[in-house]
Amino acid sequence: MSHPAESKARRAFLRNAALAAVSAPIAFQLISQRAHAQDKPLLALDNPQAVALGYTDDAAKVDTAKHPQFKAGSSCANCNFAQGGPDPLGCMLFPANSVAPAGWCASWAPKAG
Ligand code: SF4
Repeated sequence: MSHPAESKARRAFLRNAALAAVSAPIAFQLISQRAHAQDKPLLALDNPQAVALGYTDDAAKVDTAKHPQFKAGSSCANCNFAQGGPDPLGCMLFPANSVAPAGWCASWAPKAG
């Protein structure tokens, strides 16, 4: 039978090992996405998905009659779906492209945290 302190240390080790195993691939993916944002072509304004989401590369040009949900000051730079950056940014919704930090689309959501 093992000593209680030894069991506690073993459990802590196993917990930390499991956390490391889970978080390492996520950290690697985030680093890769950051590195790749510069390598991806800037999202074209006539990209069908961009058109569907009302994407613009300049949030100041958002047609608020068409997009009444637009919040002043919102842009890709402070969107929860943006990755990497600062310029250009990656976007989870457009994984093949980079987006302009000053851009905006109808899927904008405030950055968490
Ligand atoms: S989801 Fe966010 S980061 Fe992506 S294009 Fe729309 S506003 Fe920009």
